[in-house]
Amino acid sequence: MNITRLIDQKLSLRRSLDSGTSKQRADVYNIVEDVRERGDQALFHYTEKFDRVALRELVVQKQEIDEAYQQLDESLVAVIKQAANNIREYHAKQKKESWFYHREDGTMLGQKITPLDAVGVYVPGGTAAYPSSVLMNVIPAQVAGVERIVLVSPPNQDGKLPSGVLIAANELGVKEIYKVGGAQAISALAYGTESIKAVDKIVGPGNIYVALAKRQVFGTVDIDMIAGPSEIVVLADETAMPNEIAADLLSQAEHDKLASSVLVTPSIQLAEAVKAEVEKQLETLPRKEIAKASVEQFGQIYVAEGLEEAINAVNELAPEHLEVMTSSPYEVLPLVKHAGAIFLGRYSSEPVGDYFAGPNHVLPTNGTARFSSPLNLDDFVKKSSIIAYSKEAFTENAAKIASFARLEGLEAHARAIEERLKEDS
Ligand code: NAD
Repeated sequence: MNITRLIDQKLSLRRSLDSGTSKQRADVYNIVEDVRERGDQALFHYTEKFDRVALRELVVQKQEIDEAYQQLDESLVAVIKQAANNIREYHAKQKKESWFYHREDGTMLGQKITPLDAVGVYVPGGTAAYPSSVLMNVIPAQVAGVERIVLVSPPNQDGKLPSGVLIAANELGVKEIYKVGGAQAISALAYGTESIKAVDKIVGPGNIYVALAKRQVFGTVDIDMIAGPSEIVVLADETAMPNEIAADLLSQAEHDKLASSVLVTPSIQLAEAVKAEVEKQLETLPRKEIAKASVEQFGQIYVAEGLEEAINAVNELAPEHLEVMTSSPYEVLPLVKHAGAIFLGRYSSEPVGDYFAGPNHVLPTNGTARFSSPLNLDDFVKKSSIIAYSKEAFTENAAKIASFARLEGLEAHARAIEERLKEDS
């Protein structure tokens, strides 16, 4: 990990989002179109081609869920349930109500909030299992009131989904689970097939094929976001523990060779101690190869002149995850403008938020925390404006409205107003 002084640095975690190779883009285009045309037949074909399993059924059977429970330790099922409760409690606080108000002239105006009818949740799979993705994407949809939630995830070579994924989905009461992944799953969710009815929005992370397919179907359905590689910035002063900071930096680095782990500190002693700790702890990590590549390419330690300069740097970086490990993290909080999730103090290590605390772990990356938010309830509802004009308000304002319409050259608009004046006179 490099140590550099902040002064004169041009800071950015922003990297252009991976838009894939031209071959990947062409392949995804063809897969999406093929599923659109041939439906289930194409889903079976691509599942055999990419996941190396010939399925006869896409839908997960009750027996497979029962088997999953036999494979997972009961204590882990209890952890999943407790995490689910924490996540549900937190997202319930985000709930917004429809609102209405009256003007003195009798007009009623408002905003009606309606949950989406159907949402598809993509849970990445194949080599790894992500039960936390199930919780983080399904629970907000449920709290928002979405009636139909469809989960898709690629099967392994035995034609199965990971036990943790099935149990998380079952504990949440998800009724539709399909064994299909990649671009083919995204196309099925967007356009529908014989087995999978189309949804209105697709959420959830995935690899480049999933991301490109989500981009392609956006407009036919809504999507949550295209997430880039994971990032963490730790803002720490001399009171923080180098071993804990190093462990947190590596917790992001092990995600992906492209992940970024950055420390910003006013203390050169801390900077040097963290660098040494990162090198030491790396050696014993099972995912050393990935973490090392990430740290070497995108790991960075910046030394600031003081805390103020360090906070300015954090705002410039606008990270996905920010940990504040200073003597007074609550004093730093009001000064942080841009970060997807802010973890305050020594005991708020990032994995606390990844799995358990309650806030969503689907967060803006690539500096997009400057203008966007974590996955939240608003992603699963839509709003309708309500306009109910009274006779008094209409008559009073009719001439103004008609004149505005004529300003835009829209005579029929003006007449729609004036027809009513005729009826009333
Ligand atoms: P995945 O489910 O995203 O992709 C597997 C699918 O990719 C396969 O089923 C197949 O259909 C398709 N595919 C593979 N090779 C292909 C090819 N040559 N042509 C066309 N399609 C092909 O699983 P994954 O690959 O393990 O990737 C998971 C990703 O999700 C990782 O990048 C991981 O970092 C990310 N992730 C992010 C979060 C988050 O919260 N941001 C959480 C979990 C996982």
